[in-house]
Amino acid sequence: MTTDKEIKKEFKINASKDPDKYYATSALKKEGFSRKHCNKCGTYFWSTTHENVCGNPACSGGFRFIGNTPAKKELDYIQVWKEFAKLFEKQGYTPIERYPVIARWRNDTDFVQASIYDFQPYVVSGEVKPPANPLVVPQPVLRFNDIDNVGITGSHYCCFVMIGQHAFMKPKDWNQEKYFIDIHNWLKQGLGLPNEEIKFHEDAWAGGGNFGPCMEFFSRGLELGNQVYMMYEQTPSGFKELNLKVLDMGMGHERNAWFTQGKSTSYETTFPTVVKKLYDITGIKVNHEMMQKFLPYSSYLNVDEVENIDVVWNDVAKKTGYDVDDLKKHILELAGLYSVAEHSRALLFALSDGALPSNVGGGYNLRVILRRALSFIDKYKWDIYMPDLCRWHAAYLEPLFPELVQNLDEVEKILEVEKQKYEATKQKTNAMISKLVKENIDEKKLLVLYDSYGITPELVREEALKFDKKIDVPENFYARVAELHERQEQEHATKREEKLDLQGVQDTIALYYRDYKKNKFKAKVLKIIDNKVILDETYFYPTSGGQLHDLGTINGQSVIDIFKQGSIIVHVLSQKPDFNEGDEVEGGIDLQRRLQLAKHHTSTHIINAAARKVLGSHINQAGAKKDVDKATIDLTHYQSITDEEIRQIGQEANRLVKESIEVESKFLPRTEAEQAYGMSIYQGGAVPGKLLRIVNIKGVDVEACGGTHLHNTSEAGEIKILKAAKISDGVVRIYFTAGEAAQKEKKQEKVILDEAARLLKVKAEQLPARVSELFEKWKLAKKAIEKDKEITIKELELKSAETFDGNVIDKISEALKTQPEHVVRTIKRFLKELEEFKAKITKGG
Ligand SMILES: [Zn+2]
Ligand SMILES: [Zn+2]
Repeated sequence: MTTDKEIKKEFKINASKDPDKYYATSALKKEGFSRKHCNKCGTYFWSTTHENVCGNPACSGGFRFIGNTPAKKELDYIQVWKEFAKLFEKQGYTPIERYPVIARWRNDTDFVQASIYDFQPYVVSGEVKPPANPLVVPQPVLRFNDIDNVGITGSHYCCFVMIGQHAFMKPKDWNQEKYFIDIHNWLKQGLGLPNEEIKFHEDAWAGGGNFGPCMEFFSRGLELGNQVYMMYEQTPSGFKELNLKVLDMGMGHERNAWFTQGKSTSYETTFPTVVKKLYDITGIKVNHEMMQKFLPYSSYLNVDEVENIDVVWNDVAKKTGYDVDDLKKHILELAGLYSVAEHSRALLFALSDGALPSNVGGGYNLRVILRRALSFIDKYKWDIYMPDLCRWHAAYLEPLFPELVQNLDEVEKILEVEKQKYEATKQKTNAMISKLVKENIDEKKLLVLYDSYGITPELVREEALKFDKKIDVPENFYARVAELHERQEQEHATKREEKLDLQGVQDTIALYYRDYKKNKFKAKVLKIIDNKVILDETYFYPTSGGQLHDLGTINGQSVIDIFKQGSIIVHVLSQKPDFNEGDEVEGGIDLQRRLQLAKHHTSTHIINAAARKVLGSHINQAGAKKDVDKATIDLTHYQSITDEEIRQIGQEANRLVKESIEVESKFLPRTEAEQAYGMSIYQGGAVPGKLLRIVNIKGVDVEACGGTHLHNTSEAGEIKILKAAKISDGVVRIYFTAGEAAQKEKKQEKVILDEAARLLKVKAEQLPARVSELFEKWKLAKKAIEKDKEITIKELELKSAETFDGNVIDKISEALKTQPEHVVRTIKRFLKELEEFKAKITKGG
């Protein structure tokens, strides 16, 4: 297998031998551009001038537009997209709204990292129609590999808006020259750049086995964007033209505003209102003279590209004529300030789109940047409240992304809880650090400290200073941390199960989508492998989407398991079948089990909606399991759920049941479904296929889901929430039952309460008071005996019998620190021991 990197390298060499075939050279020539070869890096590039170096900052001498932009237009951040969309609409493109930054429609990534992610995998592969064609989109993206550069280089971000220009065309409709002219028009008309200030670089791009030429465009040392023409795919017999060619132009929205204003850093033009407020709060005065001299070299400090950062600092100091310590002090403080501004904006997008900081997956990176920002605030003792920053960002961005102001209260709550966690970690670990600093703390130890205990290297460094020890923190520390997790994630994702050889077997027609109550059917046997049977069509539901498989019989023989391999449904029998391939057989499904599963399944949708109403719009499903006796749903939430919240969720869920709301299930084309209901339909994770089965509890909840559902919420009977528990950072699990299982659960509960009430001689609703008293008296008696204290039997009599107004079983199992099913046993034990204590006391006294 050739890697993408190798494909790119090889293709770039080939393309450079025949530029007329791969690049829009005639359009370039018409505009007076000619082809040149960079005498520093060897890149082929196009310009109208006689220079012999390319536009790369390293070849051309850094950023040369600061304080001296060649752009004739001056655009503020908001204007950039407005103007871009206006021009491209004129050129035949449809501007569309952004997608969320959490990539719910994909299972290979947590966050959207480029505008093309919106259309992968199904639009790009040609299976699904794009929402418009061609189109342009202002897509916020999250990337965490440059964390340590944020604030320093003036141009790096964890969250930036990528302007995408995309077309998805059959080869006969593909018009590369037009796509090129369209973006060139943006540079000329949108930014007001004369041709002599633009350089186009020939390059190539490869990803996922697909590849093609691309053209990067630069001005004054700044790369403004890159237009990729995805035209070929790698096959065993060489490369082949794609059936659907894809235009993928990505341009940094931030850079456009920065470039046309020629300001010192792009942070000042990206969030002007926020930066100004931060200067006021912190009292930082920018040394403009120093910045002016420093900024052309800021790109040299890209920690990914330099080997020894200290050498570069010395070098930059020499070039600017400043003392290296003075330079570093001012620049690093400013970098801290810009990082706080940048990270709060990244968090605003991520949290209001429904992501949560945590210690797993993508949430991990969100916590990293939040803690990085908090540690700057700590270090410089700034009086900055992060939720305020989010509000200011949202207000500024409102003309572009009006949705950001909607979830601000929730964003604030999440940030506050996270800050408390950070403070708690700090408290707990100060002692730990002071012990550790006596040893040698190397990079590996720093990584472990952060990864396992959440201790930031800044904290370690500060604490170490108290002991006169200097700790070296690698400049790319946070990128290394993020990398550590990316690798683990990927390893996890590549695990695969063993598979049956099903070559040549047709996809099974899944009939259970049509009628969840049907339990008898006839079908043809297509294949038998040992005790595994594949039919042409089936009503049997395979385990999927967290719903357990059906049980039943095929021709009277027991079906013990059903699973899906690709689109083929496999029935596992208890023994080798006594029928043959080609036979017609009769299937029978255990209907009671099926109905109970459907009730539990539909209830997950109902509880999901109820929890969203009670806890907030950040609630999303993180997993679910529907068994016969009970079911669970995992929800994303930033803290534990209180008893009161559980009660409210239960109440809301049962209100939805009583309201008898229709549950509609129908298949829709993917793009149509996404446009009608948004990306939150992917509650169960990414779903494959052109058509999505949309389960719509009208006005309550819409999800893409393949399970068996009720036709009306009232069929759930009753939903009973058993308990909730935090199962991992940022995820809580709700245990519940519905329908007959809930009734059964209720009956069992009544038996327990009746027995407990009989034992303690009170009414059921008086149990909580009585149980607490029992426990208190037991402790009292035990202590009296151990310490040989005087106590009378009278003092040990049980008296309290207040009425409790709430869930009695929960209350007493909590008081007894036991599960409901063990309540009676535990009470008996306490009563027995209390009697024994009393007997001893009478003897002794
Ligand atoms: Zn060059
Ligand atoms: Zn479902």
